[in-house]
Amino acid sequence: MREYLATEPLVVVRAEGNYLIDDRGRRLLDGTSALWCNLLGHRVPEIDAAVIDQLARFAHTTLLGTTHPVVAELARRLVEIAPGGLNHVFFSDNGATAVEAALKMAFQYRLLTQGSEAAEHAVYLSLGNAYHGDTLGAAAVGGVELFHDIFKPILLPSLKTPSPYCYRCPIGKTPSDCSIDCADELELALRRAEGRVCAVILEPGVQAAAGMLTLPSGFLSRAAEACRSHGALLILDEVATGFGRTGTMFACQREGVTPDLMCVAKGLTGGYLPVAATLATDQVYDAFLGRYDEYRHFFHGHTYTGNALGCAAALATLGLLSDGVIIDAVEQKARVLRDALAPLAAHRHVGDIRQTGLMCGIELVANRETKASLAPGERNGYHICVALRDRGIFLRPLGDVIVLMPPLSVTDAELRHLAASVHAVVVERFGA
Ligand code: PMP
Repeated sequence: MREYLATEPLVVVRAEGNYLIDDRGRRLLDGTSALWCNLLGHRVPEIDAAVIDQLARFAHTTLLGTTHPVVAELARRLVEIAPGGLNHVFFSDNGATAVEAALKMAFQYRLLTQGSEAAEHAVYLSLGNAYHGDTLGAAAVGGVELFHDIFKPILLPSLKTPSPYCYRCPIGKTPSDCSIDCADELELALRRAEGRVCAVILEPGVQAAAGMLTLPSGFLSRAAEACRSHGALLILDEVATGFGRTGTMFACQREGVTPDLMCVAKGLTGGYLPVAATLATDQVYDAFLGRYDEYRHFFHGHTYTGNALGCAAALATLGLLSDGVIIDAVEQKARVLRDALAPLAAHRHVGDIRQTGLMCGIELVANRETKASLAPGERNGYHICVALRDRGIFLRPLGDVIVLMPPLSVTDAELRHLAASVHAVVVERFGA
C-alpha cells in the first residue's frame, strides 16, 4: 500500500465499447473485462436501455416478502440456460455471497437429510489453489496461500486435495506420466473422510485467481463421479468461467457435468451491476420444504438480493447471448489469441502460457529450466502491465502471471494488438 500511495492512480472517467478512457484522455483496451465481469463492452445500448427502462418503474424492492417481474423472468432464463436439472435459483449480489449460500445450503441439506449427528461432523473438500471469494466461508474453501493463509486461525477447517496445476504439478507428475492422478487424489480424500464431506467445491475449467490454471480435460467429470459415489454434493463455482468465457455458456458444459449447486455472478449482468445466483437441483430444493414450524427454511438473505436494475441488465445481457452467435465466436477468437501469443512462448522468461477460451495467463519465470520464480519484490508482472498503458492496454496481473481476459466483444485486431504489445513489453523489460 505504501508503494501504491506513491504512484499516480489510473482514473477512469468514461468507458466506451471495449475501452476505458482515463482523465488524461488515454483510451485503454479493457483487457481484464473490469475484473472478469464485463462481457460485451461498456455502454452497450441494449443493456443501458434495459436499466433505464427499469429505473422508470423502480430501482429496488426486497425479495424478502415480495417479488417482481424481472427477477422472476431472470430466474426462468437462468434455469433455461443452465445444465439440465438446476431448476431453482437463489439470488444474492456477488460471487462470494453466491458461494456462501451454496456452502450453507450444502451443510443444511446434510442436516435435513441425515440428521444433526451427521451434520456435526460435516466438512467441505476443496482444491489447492482454489479461489471462491474473500468472505470467511469462501476463504475457508480457498487455497491460494497469499490470500488465505493469513486468515487460517479464524477459518472453518476444511479438507484440501491437490490442485490440477499441470505446470507445477503438486504430486510430481509430468505430461508423459499423468493420467489425471489429481482426480484420484480427490477420490481418495473423499474415501478417507468417508461420509463426512457434505460438499466438494471447485472452479470448473480454470482456477482463475490462482493464475489462470487450466484444468486438464476429464478432471471435472472424474471429480463429479467421485462426488456421486461418495454421497457429497458437487458445488461448481462458475463465477469467473460462466457466460461464455470458455466457449460454452458454462464451463461445466464442456464435460457434460451437472452439479448439485452452481454459483454464478460477474458476467451475469454483462458487468454492469452486482447480481449473483446459486442454482440448485430439485433434490436439494425439496429437502428444504416443510411446515413453518419445522424450520427447514434456508435462513439466509441479503438486502439487495434480486436488485431490479441488476436483473434488468442481466436479462438484456442474456438476450444478447441468446442466439449463440457471441459464444460460438469465442473458440475462433481464442484461436486468434493463441496464435498471436505463440511467438512469446519461446521467450526465456515465459514459463507457461495457459488458455481456455478467452481466459489466458502468461506465467513469467526467472528460469525456464528450473521454473524458478522471479523475485516478488521486482514486481515484474506489475511493471509490465503499467508499461502496457502506454500502448493503450489496461491489464492487471496476478503476481508474475499476466492475465488476459478481454470481453467477448473483443475483435481479432484487438487480440493481435494485445498479444503483440505484451510481447513487446516483455522484450523491453527482459531483453529478447
Ligand atoms: N469465485 C470465483 C471463481 C472468482 O473468480 C471470484 C472473483 N474473482 C469470486 C468467486 C468472488 O466473486 P466476488 O468478487 O464477486 O465476490
